[in-house]
Formats: sequence, C-alpha cells, structure tokens
Amino acid sequence: MSNDDSDSRVVPMPRKGGGPRKCPICQKPAVHRFRPFCSQRCADIDLGRWVKGIYAIPTNEAPEAEPAAEDAEEDL
Ligand SMILES: [Zn+2]
Repeated sequence: MSNDDSDSRVVPMPRKGGGPRKCPICQKPAVHRFRPFCSQRCADIDLGRWVKGIYAIPTNEAPEAEPAAEDAEEDL
C-alpha cells in the first residue's frame, strides 16, 4: 500500500487561454498590433468572412418592392 495520490498535484496543468492567443485564421501566434490576428492579411480575411456573414444572414423582413422590374418596363 502506497499513498501516491499526491503525484497528481505535482503535475503542472497546462492552462487553456493562459498563453499567447493564436490567430483564428492561420493558428499562428497573434501579434499585439493585429490581435487577435497575426497579421493585417489575416485580419482582412476575417473581415471578409464577417461581411459575407452579414449578407448571408436571412432577415425576417420580406422584400416588398423590386425596383428592377419597373425599370425593365420603362426601358421599352
Ligand atoms: Zn494569421
């Protein structure tokens, strides 16, 4: 019989989020200037995704007017 329960206490647990953040785009270490990204490039990539996400979100408002159709008739 041995009491080795204290062994688990000695092991240093890796803390999540304790270290430097990683770029969400390429997983490289983030740079303070461009955080949470590693570079302006990755920031632009994320911005592009963000903008696309906005337009991709379905709205509850139903499109009522379609001005394109009226313009087509006047073109005659
Ligand atoms: Zn990056």
